[in-house]
Amino acid sequence: MSEKAYKLATIEAKTERSLIKIPVRVKGAEPVVFGGKEIVVVAGPCSVETPEIMLETALAIKKAGAKIIRAGAFKPRSSPYAFQGLGVEGLRRLAKIREKTGLPFITEVMDTRDVELVSEVADVVQIGARNMQNFSLLKAVGRKGTPVLLKRGLANTIEEWLMSAEYILANGNPNVILCERGIRTFERATRNTLDLNAVPVAKKLTHLPVAVDPSHGTGHTYLVHPMALAAVACGADSIMVEVHPDPSKATSDGQQTQNFAQFAAMMKEIKAVAEAIGRTI
Ligand code: PEP
Ligand code: MN
Repeated sequence: MSEKAYKLATIEAKTERSLIKIPVRVKGAEPVVFGGKEIVVVAGPCSVETPEIMLETALAIKKAGAKIIRAGAFKPRSSPYAFQGLGVEGLRRLAKIREKTGLPFITEVMDTRDVELVSEVADVVQIGARNMQNFSLLKAVGRKGTPVLLKRGLANTIEEWLMSAEYILANGNPNVILCERGIRTFERATRNTLDLNAVPVAKKLTHLPVAVDPSHGTGHTYLVHPMALAAVACGADSIMVEVHPDPSKATSDGQQTQNFAQFAAMMKEIKAVAEAIGRTI
C-alpha cells in the first residue's frame, strides 16, 4: 500500500486519533464525539417516513441510548422505479425532528448540486456506497465543513476507501468518519459480506473514526444484533442501524430493519460489550 496515496488520512500524519465533534443544538448540551471512548450509536429508518413515524422513532431510539438519527431524503435505489426518497421535504422533516428531540441527523447527499443545501441543514452528510468514488461529490463535500460519513463502496478495497477519504481531507474538510457497510462477494446467504477486518485495518492505517453499518452489511434483521456486537468488540467507534416502528411497513429496506424492542435489546448488549473493552455508549 502506498502511503503517499493518502498522506492526510494516514496514521502517520497525526499523533492522536481524530475526534469528530457533532454539536447538539440544545442549550448547554455536550457535542456527540466520534473517535473517542464513547461508541456513538446512530439509528433510524432507511428513508425519511411520515412526521409521526419519524417522531416516534426518534423518541424510541433516544430512550434506548442512540445519539444521532439517520434517514435518507435522497435515496440511491438500484431500480429507477423504486421509491427515490422525499428530497427536500425529507430534509424539512429531519430538521423538525431535530428541533423537537435535540437529536442531530445524518442524511445522504447524492448529487453535487444538492451539496450546498444538504450540508447546510444536516449535522453529518453521508456519502453512500455507490458514490464512494464519485470524485466530484467527494471534492464538493470536502469544500464544506460539515462532517462526512463515508461509506465503503460495494466493490472497493480499503486502500481505495482511504483514498476517497483523502479527497475530502485534501479539499479542506478534516471531519471524515469511515463506515464499513459490507462488500459484494460470492456469498448469497447475506445481502453483503460485512468485512469486520476493515475495522482494525482502517484503524491501524488511519487516525479517522470507523463506523459499522450491520443493516446494509448483512441485509437481514436477525443478523444486525450479533454483527453489531462483533463490530463493537473489534473496535468500531460507531454503529449505524435501521430502525422503524413496523419494519414490514418501512418504505425501504424493511427486511434488514429492527423494531423498537429489537433495537433496545441490542443496545443493552452493546453497552455490555463496550464496557468489557473499556468503552461506553
Ligand atoms: C443507506 O445508508 O441508506 C444506504 C443506502 O447505504 P449504502 O450506501 O451503504 O447502501
Ligand atoms: Mn437502507
